[in-house]
Amino acid sequence: MEEVRVRFPPSPTGYLHIGGARTALYNWLFARKHGGTFVLRIEDTDVERSTQDAIQEILDGLQWMGIDWDEGPYLQSEHVEEHKRVARCLLETGHAYRCFCTKEELEAKREEAKRERRPYRYDGTCRRMPPEEAEEREKRGDPFVIRFRVPRQEGSVVYQDVVFGREERAYRDIEDFIILRSNGLPVYILSNMVDDHRDRITHVIRGQDHRANTPKQVLLYQALGWPVPLFAHMSLTLDPKRRKISKRVHGDVVTVRYYREKGFLPWAFCNFMALLGWSPGDDREIFSREELIEAFSLERLSRANSVFNYDPDNPRFFTDPKAININAHYLRTMPLEELIPYVEEVLREEGLWDPAYAGERRGWFLAAVDLLRVRYFTTKDFGTLGRPYFSDEYPMEEKAWKKNLLKDKQLARWLSLLADKLECLEPFDLGSTEETVREAAQEWGIKAGILINGIRAAVTGQTVGPGLFDILVILGKERVVRRLRSVSRRLAAHWAKEESGGEGEEGAGDLGKASERPPKT
Ligand code: GLU
Repeated sequence: MEEVRVRFPPSPTGYLHIGGARTALYNWLFARKHGGTFVLRIEDTDVERSTQDAIQEILDGLQWMGIDWDEGPYLQSEHVEEHKRVARCLLETGHAYRCFCTKEELEAKREEAKRERRPYRYDGTCRRMPPEEAEEREKRGDPFVIRFRVPRQEGSVVYQDVVFGREERAYRDIEDFIILRSNGLPVYILSNMVDDHRDRITHVIRGQDHRANTPKQVLLYQALGWPVPLFAHMSLTLDPKRRKISKRVHGDVVTVRYYREKGFLPWAFCNFMALLGWSPGDDREIFSREELIEAFSLERLSRANSVFNYDPDNPRFFTDPKAININAHYLRTMPLEELIPYVEEVLREEGLWDPAYAGERRGWFLAAVDLLRVRYFTTKDFGTLGRPYFSDEYPMEEKAWKKNLLKDKQLARWLSLLADKLECLEPFDLGSTEETVREAAQEWGIKAGILINGIRAAVTGQTVGPGLFDILVILGKERVVRRLRSVSRRLAAHWAKEESGGEGEEGAGDLGKASERPPKT
């Protein structure tokens, strides 16, 4: 294969949405697979929307995903003069003409077509104007647009699309489209292909929403005598109602930043994105960076649009269950040392970071993260569900209070007695804590489960989590004893109030109603 040169040319709209992220990823994978060049180009000709912040947002998103570019970012706005020159050149070679039809005239013709129920297409009034007359009118200052002169003989534009195969569009179905507006500015169809030519792009990999523009761009390539790149129009990502994903309709949940802020790991995000519109041809779902580059091919892009499920109202499982599960997979299995910086970031944000975690308590910190991660789905879980492990201020889930701690009135006494027993325990390890709890249950003639669930609720405020004895050892004797005593006092107060007919004390707060599993894919 010739040298591969691909590009990602986003319009800076203030955010990078997942459709754009996927386009960038596919181009990048293709470039990396073939030892090619990935060009980043910003289509910033909409001056009102294209701020430096909007551009930065794209760069940040790509950097976070680990997508590095080899050239650019180039700015489309720096090439407007060149785009105009190309339009002029097409005019000189007769491939384009000046059109002086006014807005009103065109509107009237459009209305007429509508009345007669035929599709409207520019009728070519100015196409027939002698060039001298057109030049004369331009000199006089009459406003005009430049239109491309689509061949009017029988025939069609033909080009190759990797996804759709041989594409063909009859000339008669293409109107003489505008390439330069009356304000002198080039249109997207022209600028985009002129830039692609200058950047020597070999493969145009982009969304299917640009498929309809392609025959026009191919006509431009042919008229200019430029080589036509190979196109690959990828499927789109739709919401469950089959609408195109957009920030306007769907909100932040479709932006890359949202995933980042919700505790996604960058590569897990890329791995999921890769599967939205491409498949490896087998049932693999987890790919390392190298494996994905190796497996990726344009031939396996799907034609059918993919559906992206999301639930912004669910704080924990806000996005596609498959995405959540892939993220959980990486979180739970990646080398611990690689995960630590993400956890540190979350703990810092939550005010839970202790500098000792990077120093004398490093060993403890690694063990705690390793213990917790097997049940977590995003790095944010360390700051919410992980709170009891990193702070003494943690919420008591309502369920933990009601179901586990109020289950038996005796728990107030039992927890306090257990605190006494555990306090004397030396060593305080998995075996000794388990023995103590089980012996106590036997001594009091109750099921060990009642004590186990009660202790877990007391020391973590939660009903689920790692195995109880792992929890106890990680928290350490001192914290366990203190928490058992404190909850025991609260329980005693609760029952005392209850007996005197007062209002019962309730749990301190809820961590959210999300179940422990994301909804099924
Ligand atoms: N700026 C266009 C977009 O964001 C680029 C289209 C293309 O890849 O040619 O949709």
